[in-house]
Amino acid sequence: MKIGFVGLGIMGKPMAINLVKAGHEVFGYDFNQENVAELVKAGGFEAESGKDAAQKGEIVITMLPNSPHVESALFSENGIAEGLTEGQTVIDMSSISPVASKDFSVRLAELKVNFLDAPVSGGEPKAIDGSLAVMVGGDEEVFNRFKDVLDVMASSVTLVGEVGAGNLTKLANQMIVAINIAAISEAYSLAKKAGVDPSRVYQAIRSGLAGSTVMDQKSQKIFDGDFTPGFRIDLHIKDLQNALDSSHAYNVSTPFTAQAMEILQVLKAHDYGSDDHSGIARYYELVNNQKLQ
Ligand code: NAD
Repeated sequence: MKIGFVGLGIMGKPMAINLVKAGHEVFGYDFNQENVAELVKAGGFEAESGKDAAQKGEIVITMLPNSPHVESALFSENGIAEGLTEGQTVIDMSSISPVASKDFSVRLAELKVNFLDAPVSGGEPKAIDGSLAVMVGGDEEVFNRFKDVLDVMASSVTLVGEVGAGNLTKLANQMIVAINIAAISEAYSLAKKAGVDPSRVYQAIRSGLAGSTVMDQKSQKIFDGDFTPGFRIDLHIKDLQNALDSSHAYNVSTPFTAQAMEILQVLKAHDYGSDDHSGIARYYELVNNQKLQ
């Protein structure tokens, strides 16, 4: 299949290259020419603009930072929408606001273009080895038509509901992860201050009700004070902002998400925005004036 691919960053580039390896003709566009050159080196083709990518591809996949970037890639001059024709499909794999996904879907429907929101979980290593988890919102018939394309990039592809449901699911994931890291760090801080080794607390409780994938993946980083990313605090701030915006749009109160967001803001103010989100533990080190290592 001919596929336009807009946004060839940390995630988009390996995802596009996996599509090339699977035999698809991929026409890539990114502001960053080096990223496009790497796709071409891997057997893909260069698109001159979003419009060009849409004209050359039967479908267009976008993998961009946030809602304003997707809006601009779709609807600005020479953007994707200018190159789309009736019956084509846009699959946005960026993690953005579900409210924005719905808006884009309505605007593309006016052009008789289908839209799926299909954000991913997994990070760069899983983008490279094609084992991302994809959560999709949109029409079931459109989903079934393009599931094979998504399967190339993923080990799990799940239709969750209507347009916006993919990003809502991604936000749920990000809320739970941030609050979970904060809960773990808070408990380890108390243990440390009380003279109990947090790593022993972890060993004692990890297989009980409090245990979690987050606890297993992040505890050692906290004990080592190793906050190399991983998933950056700056990106988690973006996701929690979208979660809070969505909560307010739907009149839902999400106090723990708001609290986690404020913790992340403190860390950003201390220039830790590029750290892994397990660096939430640093917040507790700062306010309690004690190291967790
Ligand atoms: P990135 O910043 O590395 O890549 C974004 C790319 O988009 C850049 O190369 C940029 O030049 C390009 N771009 C921006 N606006 C553009 C436009 N209008 N037209 C063309 N190109 C444009 O970001 P990333 O890490 O690849 O993340 C992409 C999305 O995936 C984000 O929503 C992020 O939250 C999500 N995500 C990231 C990870 C991760 O670990 N990095 C994991 C899961 C999900």
